[in-house]
Amino acid sequence: MEVILAEKYGFCFGVKRAIKITEKIAQTNPNTLTLGPLIHNPLEISRLEKNFGVKVQENINNLGQSKSVIIRTHGITKQNLETLKQKGVSITDATCPFVTKPQKIVEEMSNNGYDIIIFGDENHPEVRSVMSYSIKTPIVIANIESLKEIGKIPKKIAIVSQTTKQIEKFAEIVQYLVTNSLEVRVFNTICNATFENQEATRNLSQKADIMVIVGGKSSANTKQLFYIAQTHCPDSYLVENENDIQPSWFESKNICGISAGASTPNWVIKNVEEKIKNLKYP
Ligand code: SF4
Repeated sequence: MEVILAEKYGFCFGVKRAIKITEKIAQTNPNTLTLGPLIHNPLEISRLEKNFGVKVQENINNLGQSKSVIIRTHGITKQNLETLKQKGVSITDATCPFVTKPQKIVEEMSNNGYDIIIFGDENHPEVRSVMSYSIKTPIVIANIESLKEIGKIPKKIAIVSQTTKQIEKFAEIVQYLVTNSLEVRVFNTICNATFENQEATRNLSQKADIMVIVGGKSSANTKQLFYIAQTHCPDSYLVENENDIQPSWFESKNICGISAGASTPNWVIKNVEEKIKNLKYP
């Protein structure tokens, strides 16, 4: 069986940047924590804790003795940022600039009287952080169907997207809004890194007869890659590391494609690749 890696996969600019910032801060301040996981990859989070002592705190009220807090890649809400400032801790912002962008757009457009629509998953930390910058509660839609269900479309809209969404779906939603509203300001906030990984996964999954996507199971961009792979290659699997691999998946397969989410470290991808290459069949 031939094993092929996607042309683009794994760590994106925002994740690399956040890890670099975190390692640097933790080296000078041993009491550093992140508010929520820095990135959506539990293996990398464990490495940061083991090698640099960086702990994760989910609850802003439980900062304990820590005087140094790093803001995760997906950002935090405007309210939580205010609370951190009031607590007087040292704040290091590792929010990806591609996430800061929709936060700023939402704040500005909301101040200018636009109703905000966000294409994304309401429970995702990035979307929650972007939502918090709107004066009025924004409308969050997971797909075009949920948009059609809201009934009356506001007259003056600004729309942004979660960074990891598929551009085709965003375009479909924009088209519907343009047809049903008087004024629509469209901001394409889908990030290139995600787009490139998606494109490479799409191309590879069209020729592979099995696809393995490596990444955290709560990572939105990893799940997107998995859905894209599955569309073209029904035998697609999402694994967090090499231990999730099952040899039976690969029987009578000729081409195995591998791709990985933007928060998946290279060492995890390598381990998965090696395990697949060394599989023994009866
Ligand atoms: S996928 Fe894009 S938005 Fe998300 S962290 Fe990476 S560069 Fe930033």
